[in-house]
Amino acid sequence: MRREQFDSFKNFLERIALNSGFYKNKFETLGIDINDIKTPDDIKRLPFTTKEELRDAYPLGLQATPDEKVVRIHSSSGTTGKPIIIPYTENDVKDWALLMARCFELAGVTPLDRVQITPGYGLWTAGIGFQAGVEKIGAMAVPMGPGNTDKQLQMMMDLKSTVFIATSSYALVIAEEVEKRGIRSNIHLKKGVIGSERWGEKMRNRIKNELGIDIYDIYGLTEIYGPGISIDCDYHSGLHYWDDYLYFEIIDPVTGEPLKDGEYGELVITTLKKEGAPLLRYRTRDLTRIIPGECPCGSKFPRHDLIIGRTDDMVKVKGVNIYPGQIDELLRDIEGASSEYQVVIKHENGKDEMTLRVEKEQNSNENKLREMVVDQFKKRVGIHIEAEILGIGELPRSEKKSKRIIDYRYQ
Ligand code: ZN
Repeated sequence: MRREQFDSFKNFLERIALNSGFYKNKFETLGIDINDIKTPDDIKRLPFTTKEELRDAYPLGLQATPDEKVVRIHSSSGTTGKPIIIPYTENDVKDWALLMARCFELAGVTPLDRVQITPGYGLWTAGIGFQAGVEKIGAMAVPMGPGNTDKQLQMMMDLKSTVFIATSSYALVIAEEVEKRGIRSNIHLKKGVIGSERWGEKMRNRIKNELGIDIYDIYGLTEIYGPGISIDCDYHSGLHYWDDYLYFEIIDPVTGEPLKDGEYGELVITTLKKEGAPLLRYRTRDLTRIIPGECPCGSKFPRHDLIIGRTDDMVKVKGVNIYPGQIDELLRDIEGASSEYQVVIKHENGKDEMTLRVEKEQNSNENKLREMVVDQFKKRVGIHIEAEILGIGELPRSEKKSKRIIDYRYQ
């Protein structure tokens, strides 16, 4: 941890101990005195903040500024339980636009670009966050929002959009439509900024090749500004994150102990400058690692690796932990398997049964592929599964997030 980052962390602690009812309570209950935090090593004695606590603070329990300072709220989708509401001050909104602009700059987006934004607007942070960054660098925003693929493609051709922002599953929908309609020569895209989902190399390559674009992964979460807290550069060797605004730690998701740079674990973030809803050691549930050393691009901003999964996506089958990221990786190495898959887990006749449904590439042999998937899974993950081979396009595509693991054991 750099000196100025630790100073920034100390300032942050003083601010939340003074202004945030949420943290004042929490420190008091746990008997935390922030004056005990004298070196970076002491940070691990501070408590984590969890998603459950944020839910319990619904609606505005996280707010750490007077009402007149709050200019906007965003909310997480709340697929399970109560949503999380994050209040933003004017400074928060400005800071977020700045971070997003840095992302676009690192991806080489210029004022001459036309940026088609397909993530949703509204309570969700995505659309409006991208838009603010596009405007800040002086490019042209084409604020489409999600869905309506016909219109997306029409605008993409007529306006000659050069940058496309989407989730990976929607980018795949677009890539497949462009291919199917044979309109590739009318598309002027150069770059894709793709985010909010963990996805494999194979899917990335399909989107890249079918649209003929370079792809940049962008990361973020509603609790911490939204998208735009990190992105990969032209070298595609990890995502640079803005360590003057955010302090990243990687912990063992089971014990909570900090891990060394280079080791995979759960990402924990402290928002050093946020005012509306500052967060201390927030457990993101995302699994990644800090990449040691400097990037060949020369940027001084540190890097984390692609998100390989979520602590709550992890499923235990026959006593073995399985992450979707592992399956992406496995399929990447199997010739003839496409990037699309779905896992179905059931409990039958007293034991767990897992079926991996995989789409095959054209011309690949179904029986051989099935055998290879079963064999590789046994070798690399350690358990026996069934494999079901499907044609391209047979698995459901969604415009938001593809549900890859269906676990019937807990329904
Ligand atoms: Zn770099």
